Amino acid sequence: MNILEKIAQSVTPDMYVHSVADIDFNILKEKNIQGIILDLDNTILPWKDYNVPESSLNWVEKGKKAGMKFFILSNTIHTKRLSHIAQTLGCDYIHPAFKPQPINYLRAARKLNISPKNMACVGDQLFTDIKGGNKAGFFTVLVDQIDTKNLLKI
Ligand SMILES: [Mg+2]
Repeated sequence: MNILEKIAQSVTPDMYVHSVADIDFNILKEKNIQGIILDLDNTILPWKDYNVPESSLNWVEKGKKAGMKFFILSNTIHTKRLSHIAQTLGCDYIHPAFKPQPINYLRAARKLNISPKNMACVGDQLFTDIKGGNKAGFFTVLVDQIDTKNLLKI
């Protein structure tokens, strides 16, 4: 494998959907996924926003009912906003996340008491969310950015 193929592979998600609401928990369960690490900005809600859209909130609630555990990993520097959203979603978080370093993905998996091979991560950024998840051995899911004003996907 040449260097470009290695880079491409490191940022290639296992699954691609339009938004979190399109992620089917039955499919994740078939892949033995028990826990999900969520990115915040442009994945769960628009950048800088405090209000989690109902579609994201409903999806998380549905997941919890299906036995899925959730955890937030965000590179945001706004701790107050992060803790507010974590409280809204009813899940724990690690701050700062230092994505794409895999260390905090693995810490989150340990906190949930789930093996990395049974973990998924969801995010809108290839070079942070997906790259980190691939390094940590997670099942990686790419979503389209919520905020379409920011069209650059890196
Ligand atoms: Mg994001």
